[in-house]
Amino acid sequence: MTTNSDCLFCGIVTGRIPADLVARGERAVAFRDINPQAPTHVLVVPADHYENAAELAAADPEMLAEVFTVADDVARAEGLTESGYRGVLNTGAGVGQSVFHAHLHVLGGRPMGWPPG
Ligand code: IMP
Repeated sequence: MTTNSDCLFCGIVTGRIPADLVARGERAVAFRDINPQAPTHVLVVPADHYENAAELAAADPEMLAEVFTVADDVARAEGLTESGYRGVLNTGAGVGQSVFHAHLHVLGGRPMGWPPG
């Protein structure tokens, strides 16, 4: 496993930092966002440290696929099959990325507008 000792989400993956875990796949972990923006707001992260989803896709597409599989499992477990859910991948500080370990936001449980703010 590739971890970065300075990374918050690596700390959650390894259990060093506590989190409200909702699912753990072989190579992806899901936990509730500490500052939820919707009734369901879960973050799904790869077990290995990559700065963003594009880096993960280039290095390990199977791990990226597992992130999406776990996200869909979480959405179903949260009762979002009918209403749907939104997946968000912020890439770069300019659009709001604040944690530089790839993560997929899974948001649902309320109406959502488009375009996002
Ligand atoms: P970003 O802005 O796309 O990088 O998303 C980072 C997310 O991580 C934000 O929605 C934060 O609320 C969330 N976050 C920051 N620290 C923690 C934590 O310790 N546990 C769970 N979520 C966190």
